[in-house]
Amino acid sequence: MPHTMKRYATLASVLCLGLAGAARSEAPTSAESSVTALVGATLIDGTGAAPLADAVVLIEGTKITAAGARADVPVPEGSSTVDVAGKWLVPGLIDAHVHFMESGRIYTKPGQINLTHLVPYDEEVAWMQQRVPVTLTSYLCAGVTGAVSVGGPRFEYEVREQARARPDAPDVYVAHGPVTLVPAQALFPPFDGDTSVRSVTDPASAAETIRQGAEWKADLVKTGYLGGPFAVYEQDYAAVHEAIVAESALHGLPVTSHVTELTPARTLIELGVDSLQHVPLDAPLDEAFLDLAKASGVVVVPTLAVWKRNFVDIYDRSFDLLPIEEQCGDPQVIASWYEVGDLPTPPPEVIEMFGASITVASANTGLLLEAGVPLAAGSDTGNLGLLHGASLHYELKLMGDAGVSPAELIVAATLNAATVAGQAHRVGSIEPGKQADVLVLDADPLADIGNLQAIERVMKSGALFDHATLLPPME
Ligand SMILES: [Zn+2]
Repeated sequence: MPHTMKRYATLASVLCLGLAGAARSEAPTSAESSVTALVGATLIDGTGAAPLADAVVLIEGTKITAAGARADVPVPEGSSTVDVAGKWLVPGLIDAHVHFMESGRIYTKPGQINLTHLVPYDEEVAWMQQRVPVTLTSYLCAGVTGAVSVGGPRFEYEVREQARARPDAPDVYVAHGPVTLVPAQALFPPFDGDTSVRSVTDPASAAETIRQGAEWKADLVKTGYLGGPFAVYEQDYAAVHEAIVAESALHGLPVTSHVTELTPARTLIELGVDSLQHVPLDAPLDEAFLDLAKASGVVVVPTLAVWKRNFVDIYDRSFDLLPIEEQCGDPQVIASWYEVGDLPTPPPEVIEMFGASITVASANTGLLLEAGVPLAAGSDTGNLGLLHGASLHYELKLMGDAGVSPAELIVAATLNAATVAGQAHRVGSIEPGKQADVLVLDADPLADIGNLQAIERVMKSGALFDHATLLPPME
């Protein structure tokens, strides 16, 4: 197992340093001021603006109160000053597509790889439930301060509750759904408890599902368009989506849609969904599609990593893990990939088909970029071969390979991902009034997006953590 990074944190040592703790180690504190000042770093604010050298960012409580050049942002007397000269500041990252109901372990998708004779699915679910604290802290370890759960069982909401109770956890945003047009059992393994996965075939039941999502205090709505062998209700999907979009608007819920085919993707944009998960895989995007997407303001989450890791790499266990995945990925998840000998493997032509999907998805991502369509980074983590938190960096690597520049990638993994969750007004950039989610980096991410992995500290809601305190337990 390629697991060489030295780990020295145990779960018990995952401590919130808090502002007072950080200030104690950095600068004299004052009882008069509750302001923390990050002073001297190069600021990359997440809006796409040019980097600002020698910046000052002021934080009070959980919020950013000022950010700008040192000359423009005086540090109030008595502030706790943290010297970050020679470092880079970026907003906390946000993963626009995760599943907490999937662990990334080899046992987590019996519908794809059935190993229930080795680990019954109930056992896998129990593992996920008891592992939530480690899973959540893995996000912060990777600099990911926000995660968009794209729906599933009530468990997704329970993880949100647990995250809210911990300082060392990301904000979790939960999509109600997926509201699908196919029998839900076909898509998801059984999972104890209530679920927000809904099969609907008519506009009235679709709207009813959205009202339930509002009652559960969903953050957004997810729909699933599935074609091919799943397309049993294909004729109804436009009417159903029209009702979903209208009802969601009444409750202020953004709508994100799973779609991997060009024609329905076009229809969904016309119907007014706010974001698309995945990119069409069946054809190159044509000019009319790109014009429509650009004009609509739809945000696209390409999810390139899942095609490679979940559908190709898992079968021969050849993962090109990034350093941060080895460092911050859950070691028990990584170990599980190597615990099983021969896997039930699909025929070579199927693997080849998924390999081809990567090429098409990557090319279409490049076309969206050229057309000026906003992209957001989503890892689809929870799927096989992907790690909660850290694999967002792998998605950024693949998006970079598709032509997205480091500056654009940073926006994709911050402000645009916040937009998918309907949260761009409160997170996703380093601007006054925003929640204080800030990464302190040792290297310039604009020079190489891989430098986003050089995390020295993580600030989440104003609480500052040394990176070493966020590492997962060793075993
Ligand atoms: Zn997914």
